[in-house]
Amino acid sequence: MQELRGKLVYDQIKNECLDFVGSHNGIMPALAIVRVGERAEDIAYENSVKKRFMDFGLEVKTYEFLGNVSNVDFQHAFRFINQDPEIHGILVMRPLPKQIDEEEMLGNMDPAKDLDGITRQNLAGVMMGDRDAFAPCTAQAVLEMLKGYQIEMQGKHTVIIGRSLVVGKPLAMLLLQENATVTVCHSKTENLKEICQSADILVVAVGRPQMVGSSYIREGATVIDVGINVDQDGHLVGDCNYDTISLKAGAVTPVPGGVGVVTTAVLAKHLVQAAGRQIKFTSEEETKDQYLEDAWKPGRP
Ligand code: NDP
Repeated sequence: MQELRGKLVYDQIKNECLDFVGSHNGIMPALAIVRVGERAEDIAYENSVKKRFMDFGLEVKTYEFLGNVSNVDFQHAFRFINQDPEIHGILVMRPLPKQIDEEEMLGNMDPAKDLDGITRQNLAGVMMGDRDAFAPCTAQAVLEMLKGYQIEMQGKHTVIIGRSLVVGKPLAMLLLQENATVTVCHSKTENLKEICQSADILVVAVGRPQMVGSSYIREGATVIDVGINVDQDGHLVGDCNYDTISLKAGAVTPVPGGVGVVTTAVLAKHLVQAAGRQIKFTSEEETKDQYLEDAWKPGRP
C-alpha cells in the first residue's frame, strides 16, 4: 500500500512559487485574508496560511472585522480591499455571519482575485473547462495529489462521496477534464457501498469522522480522504478509517498530512498565478500608454 503524503506535492508547488518570486525581482504577491469575528477554526486556518506563505516567499495581510460589523461597513471596506492594486488575491473565511450579505460580497469580488473559486464566474469557468478559472482550492488539491503521484485518471471510474460547492461538484468537473468517468454520491444515494466498491479512485468528502471503512473499497483502489474532523479525544481524523482501509487499498492519503497540506499550497499557487496575470496586465497597459503617448508626440511623421 502506498501512502500518498501531501508533502511531496506541497514541495513541488512551493518550488514553483519560490521560482516565481525569484524571477520577479521586487514583486511580492500579496494575499488578503478577510475574517469576520474570532471563530477558532478560522484563526487556526489563518495562522497555518501565514506560516506556510512565509515559507513560499509570499505576503499575507489580514483584515479582521468585529463579529457584529454591519453589512454596509463590511461591503464598503471589502470593496476597498478588492480594489487595492497591492493585493493580488483574497481569501474570505466563511461562513460569514448572518448580517453580512454573501451574494453582495461575491458581486464585489474581482474574479481575478478570487483564489478559492467562490465567485460565479470562476465556478462557471470550472464547469466550462476553462483552465484559467480558479477552482476551489480543496477540489484542486485532490487533482494535484492524483497528478503529483501520477495516478491514472483517464477512463477510470472515480467515485466522489459529497456534492458540496467547495469539494464534490467542482472536483467532478475537474476530473471530467482529465477524462475520468465520474459518479457523485450524497446523503440520498442508494447502495452507496456497492457504488464505492466499483471505484478505481474513491474521493471521500462527507464530513463524518471515519465513516468509510474497508467494506466500501475494492482491493487496490486509490482512496483520497478529504475529511478533517476532530474526534472525541481531540485528535484530527479523516472521513475514512485509515487503519482498515490501508489493509486493502492500493494507495491512500493520511489525515493529517494528506490533502489538507496541499490545499494551502494550491492557495499559494493560485496567488502566484493571479499576481502573474495582474503584473502582466499592468505592464501591457503601461506599454500601451507609452505607445499612445509616443504616437501623439508633436512633429511625429
Ligand atoms: P458539506 O457538509 O458541505 O458536504 C458534505 C457532503 O457529504 C454533502 O454532499 C452530503 O450530502 C454528503 N453526505 C453527508 N453524509 C452522508 C452520508 N451518510 N452518505 C453519503 N453522503 C453523505 O462538507 P464539505 O464538502 O465542506 O466538507 C467535506 C469534508 O471535507 C469535511 O470533513 C471537511 O472538514 C473537509 N474539508 C477539508 C478541506 C481540506 O482542505 N482538506 C477543506 C474543506 C473541507 P447532501 O448534499 O445530500 O447533504
